[in-house]
Amino acid sequence: MSTMETPTGPPPARRLLLGYVRPHRWALAAGAVLSLLTGVTGLLLPLVARRLIDDLGHDRSISGALLAMSGLVVANAAVGALGSYVLRRTAESVVLGARRALTSYLLRLRVTAVDRSEPGDLMARVTSDTTLLREVTTDSLVGLGTGGLTLVATVVMMGLVDPVLLGVTLAVILAAGSVLGVIVPRINRASRQAQDAVGVMGAALERTLGALRTVKASGAEHREERALHEAAEESWRQSVRAARWSAAAGNTAGLAMQIAFITVLAVGGARVATGAADIGTLVAFLLYVFYLMSPIQQVVGAVTQYQTGSAALARIQDALRLPAEPPARPAPLPSPGDGPAAVAFHDVRFRYADDLPYVHHGVSFAVPARGMTAFVGPSGAGKTTVFSLIERFYDPDAGRITLDGRDLAEWELPRLRAAIGYVEQDAPVLSGSLRDNLLLGHPEADEEAVARVLRTARLDELVARLPDGLDTLVGHRGTKLSGGERQRVAIARALLRRPRLLLLDEATSQLDAVNEAALRDTVAEVARTTTVLVVAHRLSTVTAADRIVVMEAGRVRAVGTHRELVAADPLYAELAATQFLAAAG
Ligand code: ADP
Ligand code: MG
Repeated sequence: MSTMETPTGPPPARRLLLGYVRPHRWALAAGAVLSLLTGVTGLLLPLVARRLIDDLGHDRSISGALLAMSGLVVANAAVGALGSYVLRRTAESVVLGARRALTSYLLRLRVTAVDRSEPGDLMARVTSDTTLLREVTTDSLVGLGTGGLTLVATVVMMGLVDPVLLGVTLAVILAAGSVLGVIVPRINRASRQAQDAVGVMGAALERTLGALRTVKASGAEHREERALHEAAEESWRQSVRAARWSAAAGNTAGLAMQIAFITVLAVGGARVATGAADIGTLVAFLLYVFYLMSPIQQVVGAVTQYQTGSAALARIQDALRLPAEPPARPAPLPSPGDGPAAVAFHDVRFRYADDLPYVHHGVSFAVPARGMTAFVGPSGAGKTTVFSLIERFYDPDAGRITLDGRDLAEWELPRLRAAIGYVEQDAPVLSGSLRDNLLLGHPEADEEAVARVLRTARLDELVARLPDGLDTLVGHRGTKLSGGERQRVAIARALLRRPRLLLLDEATSQLDAVNEAALRDTVAEVARTTTVLVVAHRLSTVTAADRIVVMEAGRVRAVGTHRELVAADPLYAELAATQFLAAAG
C-alpha cells in the first residue's frame, strides 16, 4: 500500500527505525514466522471444512477431518502464543535500544543545544515517544509482513478456488484502499501534534515542579495549572483526532470486507445456480473472504499504527539532530605531577547565539600557572561567560583561548575538563546523598581524601552533626541544604578532583563571615599549587589575589593588583569603595 509514504515522515525516520530494529532482526523474523505459521494453520481450516462437507455429502466418515481440524486449532493457539511473546519481547528490546541511544546522546548535548531546549520536552521524547516504538515494531513491521504475506497467500488460494469471485473481491478491496490513502496521512499529522503536546506538557511540568516554591509564593498555581491543562487537552484533542481517523480507516476496511462478502455471496450464488461453481466452492470461498478480514485488518492496523510511530520517530530524530559533543572515553584526573595550568584569552569575541548581541568584544588576558586571579566587574560584564568558555561549554566566535599555550580546540574534551575544577555561580547540588555529590567528579576518591576536603571546605562539622553523616540525602537540587552549605559542597567537590585549574564563580557569596574567611585561607593555600580563577564579590578576596582582571561590558578594562587598580582605574576604585557588594553579579 502506497500509504506508507507520508509527507511528514521523511525517509530518515524510517532508516532510524530500521537502525533500532536491525540488531533484533532475527528475533523479529522468528516472531514473524511463528505468526505466519499461526496464519497458515488457520488458512488450512477451510480446506478441511470443504473435505468435511464433501465427506458428509458422500456419506463418508468425518472423524479424519474432525481430528485434523482439532489438531490445527490446538497448533494455532500454541504457535500463536509463542509468536506473540517473541514479538513483544523483541519490541521491548527495540524500545530499550532507542532509549539507550537517546539518553547517551542527550548527555552529550552541547550546552548551546540545552540552552535552546526544554528539558521536560526532551524527557518526554525519552519516556513517551520511545514507548510508541513498541507498537511500531510488533503491530506495524510484523503486522505488515505477516498480514501482507497471509493476505497474498489467501488471495492465491482464492484464485485457485474461483478466479471470478477473486476479481470481485479485489475490486472492492482496491476501492477501499484509495479511501485509506486519503485518511492515513491525517493520522500521522494528528499523532505528531499529540506527541508534541505531551512534550509541551512535560516542559510545563518541569518548569513548575522545578520552581514550585516560587510558584506557590507568587500565587501562580492556577496559571501554571491552566498551562498544564491546556497542553494535556491539546494532546487529548489531537489523539482523539488520530483515533477518529484510525477508526475511520479500520471501519473502511471492515466495511469493504462486508461489501465483498455480500457481493461474493450474490455473484457466487448466481454462479452456483448456473452450475459454473459448486456449493462447496462457494462455501470455501466465503470462508476465505471471512479469513481475509484478519490480515486486512492487520495491514490497515499496521499502516495506521506506523503513522503514530513515525510521528514519535520524527520527534526522536529531532532530538538526535541537536548539536552534541563527539563521543569520547572519560579521561583520568590529573596526577599531582601534572602541575598547575596557564590560561590565556586572545582577543576573544563571543555571543551565545547568532541572533543575540556579543557578550565578549575582544577579551584578552593571560594567567600564568599558579596563583590566584580575581575577576571583578558589574553584573552582566561577562565574567561567568569567561568560565563557560574555558570549560568549552561554548566556542568563541573569534580569537583564541589557550590552556598551557595550547588552543582549547586542540584539547580532547574529557581531558580538558578533567584538568579543571569548576564551582558554578549557583553552586548546583544534585539529588542524592552528600557523598554522591562529593564523589560526582572523582568516584574513586578514598575516605581520607574525602575527609580532607570536608575539613578544607569546612563541612566536617555539618557532616558530624547529621545523623546519617555523608549518607544524608540532600533533596532535589540540594533543597535540604542552606545556600552556604550548597556552596561548600560544590567547593569540596571541585577540590576533591585536585584540579590543575580551579574556577570559583562567586563560590562564597552565601557564606557567613567566619566561614568565608576560612575558605579564603583555603583558596589561598590551594592557589600555591594550582591556578585559581575567582569571580569575586568581596573586597577581602580581591585584595588577596595576585592579580585582578576588571571587566566591563564584555571587555577587560584593566589588569593589576588591588593597589595599582585603586589608583589607576576609576571603576575599580568605585567597586572597591562599595566593597563590591552592590555591583556583584
Ligand atoms: P557576569 O557573570 O559578569 O554577571 P555573564 O557572563 O553571566 O555575566 O553574562 C554576560 C551576558 O551574557 C549577560 O548579558 C547575560 O544576559 C548573557 N548571557 C549569559 N548566559 C547566557 C545564555 N546561556 N544565553 C544567552 N545569553 C546569556
Ligand atoms: Mg556571573
